[in-house]
Amino acid sequence: MTKEILILPGDGIGQEVTSSAKEILDFLIVEHGLDFKVTEMEAGGTAYDKFGSPLPENVLDKAKQSDAVLFGAVGGPKWDNLDWDNRPEHALLSLRKELELFANLRPAFLFNELASASPIKDHIIKNLDILIVRELTGGIYFGEPRAIVEDKSPSYAFNTMIYNENEIKRIAKVAFESAQKRNGKLCSVEKANVLEVSKFWRAIVSDMAKDYPDVELSHQLADNTAMQLVLNPNQYDVIVSSNLFGDILSDIAATLSGSIGMLPSASLNSSAQGMYEPCHGSAPDIAGMDIANPLAMIASLAMALRYSLDQKDLAIKIDNAIKEFIAQGYRTKDISTDEEYVKTSEVASILIGILKNG
Ligand code: NAD
Repeated sequence: MTKEILILPGDGIGQEVTSSAKEILDFLIVEHGLDFKVTEMEAGGTAYDKFGSPLPENVLDKAKQSDAVLFGAVGGPKWDNLDWDNRPEHALLSLRKELELFANLRPAFLFNELASASPIKDHIIKNLDILIVRELTGGIYFGEPRAIVEDKSPSYAFNTMIYNENEIKRIAKVAFESAQKRNGKLCSVEKANVLEVSKFWRAIVSDMAKDYPDVELSHQLADNTAMQLVLNPNQYDVIVSSNLFGDILSDIAATLSGSIGMLPSASLNSSAQGMYEPCHGSAPDIAGMDIANPLAMIASLAMALRYSLDQKDLAIKIDNAIKEFIAQGYRTKDISTDEEYVKTSEVASILIGILKNG
């Protein structure tokens, strides 16, 4: 069956990095005769300027019909003062919600050749390869009731951290299965020492462990994990956490690997439909300068091939080509240690050359 792919470049460097990923995708489609239909549409500030909405209805409809959405990045100072419904970021959150993308997979890895770009000492960071599985559509970011109450004295505000058992089971299942495909270790992170919702989370994840005898499960408190990620990140294989703790921990993990321009992400729903995007934003400071690193977007394409497009072998080929690109000494400006660097628009053709050579 034809697989539908929707490309939403968005704003700023989103447009440059998706263009590189599309070059690789076009090459793979021809080279391997893939039955893919690729459509490109506008989202974010660019869409707001043209159509008066950061996520026009026809774009949302197309995303719902697609197997994979490749999303660049949205936002920029030009749109910072719009009301929330028209802000570029609204497009991103609406897509996550409407497509029910509850599982956010964020790998954090280091190419050892780039260890000097990491803020952490080489011997601690070497061989870093972890996966953070973050729950994305529940928890305190969406829990009701929530309010700022200003007509009382003192005024106050509150949110609700809530998970039901089904929400915990479905994210834990993704995490256990991911650990099975990797090195068989899963660390579940919460604050079971102080939060009822975390005690509940821990009990459910513990109970599920009996169905995954090949996975070694541990539990950790989120504050300790924040510290351990910096002190000894290689103790982890897969980490699973809630929306709030996962948000914080995945950003710490992203920092470890040196450049935010290297890290991909996938957000999946229960039908393996997914949105694939780099961890970085639209980088207005370097937009249009042809110096953005497109490897995170290209690695996100590899995740799309693996998780939504039934092309695991091609995903491995792209991941290997990126490793080879680094091993051969190619560097974009963000990871270059001297004046020499490869421009954004040159990266895809170098990778295609590597892919052709096998
Ligand atoms: P950012 O990730 O865009 O940039 C942070 C820094 O990293 C900048 O110095 C930038 O030049 C650099 N950088 C980012 N990606 C890079 C790449 N691929 N290659 C080389 N350098 C890169 O974060 P920010 O500056 O906080 O946000 C800028 C805009 O992006 C804001 O409008 C923000 O709301 C938006 N944003 C969007 C997303 C998204 O669409 N998923 C995520 C984060 C931020």
